[in-house]
Amino acid sequence: YQVKINGKAHYLIYDDNDEKITRKLLLEQSIGSALDHNELLLHYQSQVDASSGKVVGVEALLRWKHPQLGWIAPLEFIPVAEDTGSILSIGRWVLLEACRQAKTWADQGHFIKMGVNLSPRQFQQGNLVDTVAEVLQETGLDPAYLDLEITESIAMSHIHNVIPQLHALKHLGVSISIDDFGTGYSSLSYLASFPIDKLKIAREFISKINEKDSHSIIASIINLAYGLNLNVIAEGVEDCQQADILKGIDCYEMQGYLFSKPVIAAEIEKTFQQDHLH
Ligand code: C2E
Ligand code: MG
Ligand code: MG
Ligand code: MG
Repeated sequence: YQVKINGKAHYLIYDDNDEKITRKLLLEQSIGSALDHNELLLHYQSQVDASSGKVVGVEALLRWKHPQLGWIAPLEFIPVAEDTGSILSIGRWVLLEACRQAKTWADQGHFIKMGVNLSPRQFQQGNLVDTVAEVLQETGLDPAYLDLEITESIAMSHIHNVIPQLHALKHLGVSISIDDFGTGYSSLSYLASFPIDKLKIAREFISKINEKDSHSIIASIINLAYGLNLNVIAEGVEDCQQADILKGIDCYEMQGYLFSKPVIAAEIEKTFQQDHLH
C-alpha cells in the first residue's frame, strides 16, 4: 500500500504498522518458551521507611531478554503473556523465585518483605491460593514476608470470586496491597470491606506532587488509608523534595529512583545495610 499526500509517499505509516504487528507476533511466539530458555529474571526495587531510613521491603519486577529483540519492557510483554496464557506459568515462577530470594535474605538476617505483582489471569484460573500455599511450603518463607500486589480493577472485579480468593490468601498469612492506587476506579465503600493491607499511591500523582490537585489527591489517599487502618506507600519517588513533602503529610514508606532503581538481587542487597535518610 502506498498513499500520496501532497506528492509525498506515505507508505511508511503502513510499514510502521507492519513492523509493530511483526514484533507482536514474534513476542507471542516466543513468550511461551522464555521461561524454559532462561530468558526471564527478576529485578528488585527497595521500599524504604523514610523515618528510620531502612529498607523494609522490595518489589520483584520481571525482566525479559528476548534472543533477537533484546530487553522488552514489562508494559509491552505482560499483556502478551496475559493474552497467550503464559502469565500463569510465568506468574508461578515469579512467586517461586521471589519467595526463594526472600527466604535466602531472611536466613541471612535480612527480614525484607517481598512484593509480587499478580495478574487478573491468575485470579481467573482458580488455583492461585493453592499456588501461593505451595510456593510458601516449597520455599519455607514465612508468609508474613510476602506481599501480593493487585490492581484496583482486580479488586473491583466481581467475577471469578476475587474477594473470597483474597480472604483465602490473607488466611495463608500474606498481605495484600493495591498497586497504582488512584488510577483505577475503586468504590470507596467497597474498599473498606476488602481484605487488604496497603495502598500504593500511583507514581503519576507523586510526579506532580507540586501541583495543587495532585497534592490534594495524595493527602486524601493518605488520610483514607489511615482512616481505614491501612498502610500507605508512595510509588515513584524521584527526589528529596517529593520525599520531604510526603513526610510532611505523614507518608513515610516510599519506593522510587531516589532510593534505588530496580536491580539484580546482588545489587539490591547492598542497600539493606545503608541508611536512606534524606
Ligand atoms: P508496577 O507494579 O506499578 O511497578 C512499578 C514500576 O514503576 C516499575 O516499572 C518500576 O521500574 C517503575 N518505577 C519505580 N520507581 C520509579 C521512579 O522513581 N520513576 C519512574 N519513572 N519509574 C519508577 P516496570 O519494572 O517497567 O514494570 C511495569 C509494570 O509491569 C509494573 O508496574 C507491573 O504492573 C508490571 N509487572 C512487572 N513485573 C510483573 C510481574 O512479575 N507480574 C505481573 N503480573 N506484572 C508485572
Ligand atoms: Mg507493583
Ligand atoms: Mg505500581
Ligand atoms: Mg502497575
